[in-house]
Amino acid sequence: MRPQPVSGATAAADPLFQLPVRYEDRTHVTPLGALIAGTRVVVEAEVQVADVVFRRRRALLVRLSDGSGFLNLRFFYFSRAQVEGMARGTRLRCAGEVRRGPQGLEMVHPEYRRVGVTPEPLDDRLTPIYPLTEGLTQGRARANANRALARLAANPAQDLLPHHIVEKLELPTLTEALEFVHRPPKGTSLAALASGRHPAQRRLAFEELLAHQLCMQQLKQRAQREAAHALADDAQLTTRFLSALPFALTNAQRRALDDVERDLERQHPMVRLIQGDVGCGKTVVAAAAAARAVGSGRQAVLMAPTELLAEQHWRSLESWFRPLGVTVALLSGSQPARTRRSALEAVASGEVHITVGTHALFQAGVSFHDLALVIVDEQHRFGVQQRLQLKEKGRRDSIVPHQLIMTATPIPRTLAMTAYADLDVSVIDELPPGRTPVRTVVVAEERRSQVVEGVHRACREGRQAYWVCPLIEESEELRAQAAEETATTLAEALPGIRVGLVHGRQPARAKEQAMQEFKAGHIQLLVATTVIEVGVDVPNASLMVIENAERMGLAQLHQLRGRVGRGAQESSCVLLYRGPLSQTARERLACLRDSNDGFEIARRDLELRGPGELLGTRQTGLAELKVADLIRDADLLPAVREVAEQLLRGNDALVAPLAQRWIGGAEEYGRVG
Ligand code: ADP
Ligand code: MG
Repeated sequence: MRPQPVSGATAAADPLFQLPVRYEDRTHVTPLGALIAGTRVVVEAEVQVADVVFRRRRALLVRLSDGSGFLNLRFFYFSRAQVEGMARGTRLRCAGEVRRGPQGLEMVHPEYRRVGVTPEPLDDRLTPIYPLTEGLTQGRARANANRALARLAANPAQDLLPHHIVEKLELPTLTEALEFVHRPPKGTSLAALASGRHPAQRRLAFEELLAHQLCMQQLKQRAQREAAHALADDAQLTTRFLSALPFALTNAQRRALDDVERDLERQHPMVRLIQGDVGCGKTVVAAAAAARAVGSGRQAVLMAPTELLAEQHWRSLESWFRPLGVTVALLSGSQPARTRRSALEAVASGEVHITVGTHALFQAGVSFHDLALVIVDEQHRFGVQQRLQLKEKGRRDSIVPHQLIMTATPIPRTLAMTAYADLDVSVIDELPPGRTPVRTVVVAEERRSQVVEGVHRACREGRQAYWVCPLIEESEELRAQAAEETATTLAEALPGIRVGLVHGRQPARAKEQAMQEFKAGHIQLLVATTVIEVGVDVPNASLMVIENAERMGLAQLHQLRGRVGRGAQESSCVLLYRGPLSQTARERLACLRDSNDGFEIARRDLELRGPGELLGTRQTGLAELKVADLIRDADLLPAVREVAEQLLRGNDALVAPLAQRWIGGAEEYGRVG
C-alpha cells in the first residue's frame, strides 16, 4: 500500500511534520588542534592561503590556522567572488565533517561564513538537518520550520489529541514535542536523539502510529457496516468437496475453515486473513470457501500474484471441482484474445463458477454475474488498493463480496495486529502429516562443482531439483539472460539429465509448459529465476540449489525453500553464497540453516532488516513511517490500539486531520472502501 501521489489539490506538506533526519552540534567551536577525523564540528580560524588548483579536477583549496593547528577546505564548485573573499587573514566560521585528506585533515564544501574578530554568538540549539527536496536548502528548511513553530505557538489547537490521553501516557504536548525535535536545546545528547527514544520523539511516533491505526480501524468499521450475502451452501458443496479430497484437513486447516464458514454465514462481508507457513495447505481452505459460495448459487474468484501460480491454482481447482460439476476458468493477461473473450463471457453469464487469475482480473471488461467471494493469494504481492478494486467489481448496489486473503509471510503478533488492523486473522500453525523437514546447507561458491555433482547424483536417482538463479536487481531482462546461461551451462555439465527453464520474460505458454513437464517428471532439473518463489507446488521435487543466497532476504529464501519438502521424501536445500560474507549475511544464512519455522525466521528477518522489507513495501502504509519504527516503538502499540478504539467509539472527527497530517490524505487507505 504505497502512498498514492497526492493530487494537486492537496496543500503542500506541512513543514512542522517534515522532521530532521539528524542533528549537528554547532553550539561550540572546536580548536583545530583538537579535530578528529569523522566528526562534525564548528571551527573558527584564519585563512593562511587560498589557491585554485588543477589536479584531477579544478578545486579551490583553502588552508586555515587558529594557532592550535591547521585545516584544509576543499571546494569543487565555487565562484570568483568566493575566491576573492578568501584573502589571507580572513576569519571564517565553518561547519562540516572533518576528513582525512591528502594534506592532512580537511572539510569538503563546509557551510561557512566570514566573521569578525569580536566573538559572535554560536547556536544555542542543536542544528537540525532536514531531508532536502528540489529547490530547498538547509537554511530555507530551517526558516520554514521556525515560522511553522511560531504559528503553532500562536495556535495550539493544532494539537489534536485530547489532553487526558497524552497525559496518561506521560508524553509531552504536540507543541513541546515539535519544538524539541526541530530545535533540541544545547546539551541534548546526539546519541539520545539518534536512538529515537526521547519522549518528544515518542510523542510524535505515537501520533503517527495512531493515525495509521485509526485509518485501518475505520476501514474495518466501514466494511462491517456493509452488507453481504449470507452463504448457506444449501447444496452442501463444501462437504462434498472435502470428502472427495485424497486427504483429511489438518486440525489447523479445520480451525481456519471454521472461522471462514462462520463469517460467510453472516450478512456482513468477511475480511479475513489466513496466515500460515509455506506448505501448510492454504489453497484447499480457500477452495473449500469457494465451494461454499458456489454451493450457495454464487461465484468466487481467486487472484494470484503471478501467471505461473494462477495457472497452477487453476489446474488444482479444476481437478478438484470438475468431478463435482463446478466450472473453473482461468483469466490471464497473456491468453489468446479468443480464449480470453469466451472466458470473459462465461464469467459474466454465470456459467463459470470459480474464476482464477492474476491482476488481469481487475481490468475493465471483466465483470461477474454474481460474485460473492474474493480470494487473494500471497497478498503481500498486492496493494490493498488492488484487493479493494476487486471487491468493488463484485459490488451490487450495497451488497459487497466477502474477502479471504492468504499470506505465507508470518509476522509477529503485535505487528500483525497493527499491520492488519482492518482484518480478522486466522493462523494455520501446523503442516500436513508426513512431511520431513528440509535439510539446509550453506556452501561457498568455490565448491560449486561439488554441488553440481550432487544434483547429478540426485537426478540419476530419480529425484527432481530446482536451481534458482541469482537475484539480479537491474532488470528482468538480465535475470532472464542469467537464467538462460545457467541452464545451458548446467545442461552441458549434466549429460543425460533433462534440464528445463522458467523465467519472467518467457511467454506464458512456455512457462506453463516447462512447469507442466517438471510436474510430470519429464524435466528433472528446473532452472528458474525467483518467479517460482510464490506458491509453486511440485511435491516430487526434493532438492533446491539457490545461487547468491547471501543477496536475498530471509523471508524470501524461506519461501523459495518451501518449494521442496512437500512430499514424503527427505528434501534438501543448498544455499550457495559468494564470499566474503558480512556479519549480518552470515547470521542470516545460519538462521535459515538452523530453522524451518517461518515465524521464527520472520522474527529474525524483522530484527535484521526492519518491517519494510518483511511486509513488502506495497503491503502496508506502515512500511513508510516517518517517525515511528515498528520494532523500536513496539511497546507503544497496545496503547495505540486502545486509544484508536476509544476515539472511534466517541467521534471520528480526528481521523481525517490526523490522516492528512501523517499519511498525506487518506487515499492510500482506500477511499474505494
Ligand atoms: P501453501 O499454504 O504454501 O499455499 P499449498 O496449499 O500449496 O500450501 O499446499 C501444499 C501441498 O500440501 C499441496 O500439495 C496440497 O495438496 C497438500 N496438502 C494440503 N493440505 C493437506 C493435508 N491436510 N494433508 C495432506 N496434504 C495436504
Ligand atoms: Mg500457496
